[in-house]
Amino acid sequence: MGIKDEGINKISPHVMKKALTLRIVKAEKREWWVSGGTEPHLVWADISYEFACDCVGFMMRKSCSHVLAVKLHLEGVENE
Ligand SMILES: [Zn+2]
Repeated sequence: MGIKDEGINKISPHVMKKALTLRIVKAEKREWWVSGGTEPHLVWADISYEFACDCVGFMMRKSCSHVLAVKLHLEGVENE
């Protein structure tokens, strides 16, 4: 196997696909509700735009489709 790459740029296709099905609703400044999965999750960012999510996946992996969905949303990537 080659060099281990766990960077943000290496997003698995199924996580990307999932992220594009989620809906983002802005809650507060730097807080968003992400729905469309099993239940809504709250994603937030600190002042340096480090993102976090309240789901189990984020707790375990420090990344999840909800955070990705918000990032795509902020970059203006839509799936409609
Ligand atoms: Zn999440």
